[in-house]
Amino acid sequence: MNDRGLIFDIKRDSTEDGPGIRTVVFFKGCPLSCIWCQNPEGKRFMPEADVNGNRIGTWYTVDELVYRMLQDKPFFTTTGGGVTLSGGEPTLQMDFAGQLLQALKREGIHTALETSGFFAFDAFKEKMLPWLDLIYFDLKLIDAAESERYSGRSSKKIFDNFSTLIKTAKIPVIPRIPLIPGITATERNLKGIAAFLAKHSVKTCALMPYNPLWLGKLENLGISAPRYTHSRFMTTEELKACADYFTHGSHSAQAQADSV
Ligand code: SF4
Repeated sequence: MNDRGLIFDIKRDSTEDGPGIRTVVFFKGCPLSCIWCQNPEGKRFMPEADVNGNRIGTWYTVDELVYRMLQDKPFFTTTGGGVTLSGGEPTLQMDFAGQLLQALKREGIHTALETSGFFAFDAFKEKMLPWLDLIYFDLKLIDAAESERYSGRSSKKIFDNFSTLIKTAKIPVIPRIPLIPGITATERNLKGIAAFLAKHSVKTCALMPYNPLWLGKLENLGISAPRYTHSRFMTTEELKACADYFTHGSHSAQAQADSV
């Protein structure tokens, strides 16, 4: 169903998903299955109902979405904002996402993508990249086996895609590292990612501190036994220790802590 996209949320007035004031379109469905996923309602590529019978996931045409985005265009114009495609994983619905990006660019709207990086690169390059102004690219686990264990997929394709993208893209590609205590926020993983970024001469990255509020969504989705249950925010000291792996040592990059 390429003429419609499955969307599970549209968030207006965001200041955390790119420059200026943005409207964020959340695509439903993700090829990964991270055990800490902050948006568990966005994982499955199908409409579903929560335990209260509320429907999650609506099929939209490009025109329907663009019509809604245009209501916010005055805010985009005055703040340097725009539209951010997020999820789930927008590249899972590559054809639709590409058509949406083209329509937004025809309207003169700045476009950004938040991606897990797990996509077919050639298709992405053809169908989405030419109409993007900015990409936030998640790097989670550099070890392929650990990535498979915690997200259901090897990270090889993700890191390969990142390497290819920063050589190809003529737009900013910002690596983002979600800090998941005991999983991604380990010395070995963060040092490994810092070395990878240094090898590719990437000078900045964004660290995304763990936010436990997603656990509250699980009951609504009827999930009673999550594999990951870390229930507190990270301390300032813990965040600093993570940032230090990027700003100190032989592989230095500027790390900025954002909120997830
Ligand atoms: S890649 Fe993102 S949306 Fe997909 S399962 Fe992992 S955390 Fe959730």
